[in-house]
Amino acid sequence: MNALVVKTDENLDILRHDTAHLLAQSVKELYPDAQVAIGPAIENGFYYDFAFAEPLSTDALPLIEQRMREIVERADPITREEWRRDQAMDFFSQCHERFKVDLIQRIPEHETLSVYRQGQFTDLCRGPHVDNTGKIGKAFKLLKLTGAYWQGDQNQPMLQRIYGTVWPTQTELDSHLKQLQEAELRDHRRLGKEMDLFHFQEQAPGSVFWHAKGWRLFQRLIGYLRQRQTAAGYEEINTPDVMDIGLWEASGHWEKFGEHMFTTQTPDQRVFALKPMNCPGGVQVFKQGLRSYRQLPLRLAEFGKVHRYEPSGALHGLMRVRSFTQDDAHIFCSEQQITQESLSICELILSIYRDFGFHDIRIKFSDRPPQRVGSDAVWDQAEQALIQAMQTSGLPYTHNPGEGAFYGPKLEFVLRDAVGRDWQCGTLQVDLNLPARLGAYYIDADGNKQTPVMLHRALFGSLERFTGILLEHYAGWLPFWLAPLQVVVAPIVTLTEVFAVEVAEQLTSAGLTVETDLRNEKIGYKIREHSLAKVPLLIVIGQREMQDGQVTLRWLHGGHQQTMPLAQALTELTGQNQYPSYLSDKQTGHPEYP
Ligand code: ZN
Repeated sequence: MNALVVKTDENLDILRHDTAHLLAQSVKELYPDAQVAIGPAIENGFYYDFAFAEPLSTDALPLIEQRMREIVERADPITREEWRRDQAMDFFSQCHERFKVDLIQRIPEHETLSVYRQGQFTDLCRGPHVDNTGKIGKAFKLLKLTGAYWQGDQNQPMLQRIYGTVWPTQTELDSHLKQLQEAELRDHRRLGKEMDLFHFQEQAPGSVFWHAKGWRLFQRLIGYLRQRQTAAGYEEINTPDVMDIGLWEASGHWEKFGEHMFTTQTPDQRVFALKPMNCPGGVQVFKQGLRSYRQLPLRLAEFGKVHRYEPSGALHGLMRVRSFTQDDAHIFCSEQQITQESLSICELILSIYRDFGFHDIRIKFSDRPPQRVGSDAVWDQAEQALIQAMQTSGLPYTHNPGEGAFYGPKLEFVLRDAVGRDWQCGTLQVDLNLPARLGAYYIDADGNKQTPVMLHRALFGSLERFTGILLEHYAGWLPFWLAPLQVVVAPIVTLTEVFAVEVAEQLTSAGLTVETDLRNEKIGYKIREHSLAKVPLLIVIGQREMQDGQVTLRWLHGGHQQTMPLAQALTELTGQNQYPSYLSDKQTGHPEYP
C-alpha cells in the first residue's frame, strides 16, 4: 500500500482508525492478557474497548500513551492478510480473543476476512491502514477511561474503553485540546454545583432535583417564553402526565415508541403511561366542543413534563435526561394557513435565540420520505411553507431529502454556542396524520367537517437541556435578568451593616433577587466566593458610601466598578432586570456576553 497523505476527511478517518490500532498494540505489549474488542474512528478521535485481567486505572494512560509513541518511532510495518473464516476462528480462539471470535461468528460462512498485523498485534479489520506505524505521527493524546458494555448490551460483560484524539498536526491537536479544556471549564454539571442550582442522585436516574436557585432560573425562562408566546397569540394549556394506555395505542405512540415509555398499573389493574410527548393531550383539548374555522389557527402551548426511558449509559447531566419539560405548542390550522403559521413560528424561534445571545443559527429541512400519509398536494404545500419560512430567515440551511417523518416535513434549528459546539434545539413539524387518527375535526365555512393540520413547535426543545446549554454558553455568567441570584450586598465595616441591609431591602422591593453577606470576612474573600457562584453583582458599602447615600457596584464578571447614588442604582438595575427583546437591544446596544 502506498503512503497516505492525511488531508481529506476520509484520510482523517484512516488516521483515527490507525491510532486506535496503535493504542491496542500498545495495550497488548504492556498487558498481554488483555482481550481486545473493537476500536473505531469517531468524531475528533478514536476509542478501543478492552477486557483487562485487572481493571485498568486512569494512572495507566500516560504509560500506554508513552508506549504508543515508542511504537511510532519503531516504525513497525503494518501488513494486511486475507484469511478464511475458519482460519481466523482458529487463530483468535487460540489467542483467547473471545470478542473477536464473537464478531467472526456474525460474519457469513464463505466471506473472506482481512486481518492487519503490526508487531505482535493482529486485528480483524477491513482497513485500510497506513503501511507502517511511523506514518501515524505523534499528534495524539489519550483522554479518558470509561466503561462500556460489549455490543452496548447490558446483559453482556462490561469492558473498559480508552478514548483518544488524534490530528494530522500538533497545532491542530493543541487547538482541539484547548477547546476541550474550555468545554471542561464550562461543564454545566460543575457549574450547577458551584452555583447551587441542581443535583442528581441514584434513586432518580436522569431526573433533576432543582435547588431553589436553579428553580428560580428555570421559572425565569418559563416566564420569558410565556410572555413571548402570549404576545404571539398562543394560549397556554396543561394536560395530564399519566393517561390510559389506550390513548397511546390510538395515537400510535405505544407501537412506535413503547420501549421508551414508563408505564404504571393501578390497584384496579388499569394500565397507564407517563406521557413521552404532549401531542395526544393537546389534541384532546382541541376536541372539546365543536370547533369552527373561525377559531383557526388555534395555538395551544404547553410546558409539558415528559418522561422517556433512556438507557442509563446515555444520560448526561441536564443534556440527556429521562424527564424533562418541553416548551411545546400545537397549532391547529387549515391547509391554507400552514405558510403564514410557519413563517410566524420561524420568526418567533429566531428572535428568541437572539435574545439569549445566539447569533450563529442554522436550519435543517427534512422533506417527504417514500412511505408517508397525506396527498402529494398537501405535502407540496407543507414543504413549500417550510422552505419559504427558512428562506425568509436568510440563515444557512441544509436539506435532508426523504428524512421527514411519515406524517410531515420538518425544520430543525441548530445553535452554535460560544465554544463552537452545535446544539439542535427548536423544531417545527407539520403533521398530516395525528388529528385524523385521533378524530379531531372542525366545521369549515360551508358547514362541512374538515380535518385540521397540526403543527408541532418547540422553541428550546427541552428546558432542562437548554438550561445546560445556557450555562455552558455563558460559562455560568448568565445575563443579569436571568441570574438566579443577582446581587449580594456586602458592608466593608460593621458600622455600615444597617445601611447594607436597607439597600438590600430596597433592591428586593424593586423585584431583584438579593442577599446580604454580613460575615466577618475580608472583601477580597467575598469577591472570590461570589465570583465562583457566578453572582453578577456585588454591592459594596463602605463608610464613605453610607455618608453620601451612595453604593459601589462591583461587576464580578469583568470586574468593572461604578459608584452612584442608591436611587440611580435602583433605576439602572431595574432596567437591566427586564426580559430582553432583540429588537430593542439592537437600538440600545445591550452588552454582548462571552
Ligand atoms: Zn407534538
